[in-house]
Amino acid sequence: MGFRLHCPKCESTNVHIERNGYGDPIMVLQCHQCGKQVYGEEAIDALHDEQKREWDKVAPERQKAEAKAEAERRRVAEEDRKILEAERAKARKKQEQKEAEEAARAAELKAWAEKIRKQQAEEAAAKRAAEEAKEKAEQEARRKAAHVPVCLVPIVIIEGICAWKDCDNPVAENSKYCCQECRKKAARWTYHQKKKAERVAARATA
Ligand SMILES: [Zn+2]
Ligand SMILES: [Zn+2]
Repeated sequence: MGFRLHCPKCESTNVHIERNGYGDPIMVLQCHQCGKQVYGEEAIDALHDEQKREWDKVAPERQKAEAKAEAERRRVAEEDRKILEAERAKARKKQEQKEAEEAARAAELKAWAEKIRKQQAEEAAAKRAAEEAKEKAEQEARRKAAHVPVCLVPIVIIEGICAWKDCDNPVAENSKYCCQECRKKAARWTYHQKKKAERVAARATA
């Protein structure tokens, strides 16, 4: 900063010089800070010279002080810049971390959804296979049932005559047979017929 005339009382530089009065106006220095006035051109000149001398005298020290203040300002600015930089780096790192965490969560969710989908598909396939197997078994059973004769030789029952095929005797009371012997023979014969039918069916489906 260059030299500036200032108020001799309060040292404010908020001063100005004007000419006051009529005819032979006088030069006045007016301080707008404290109201101090200095009258006369000579007095103002003297004040200027004195202040300028004083200013020149302390100039090297002032320059040194200003240089020091400037260095300090730069140091503080540099420190501020470093702090800001560090904070930005921290924020960047935090953001990167957050993004990485989000990506990991998304991947986990995707894997989970994939697992569920796979599980559901497997369950559906197993259910379908079970239904198909059941259907096939039922078809097979129906086919067998359709092909297996219950009895190879039909039994012809004549009302009132013993139901045993090799007997023509009249039936006993409350019975299809004439006697216990015929009933047993008929039961044995039916049993063998069934066995025979099963063997035929087994050969047919083998
Ligand atoms: Zn003043
Ligand atoms: Zn009989």
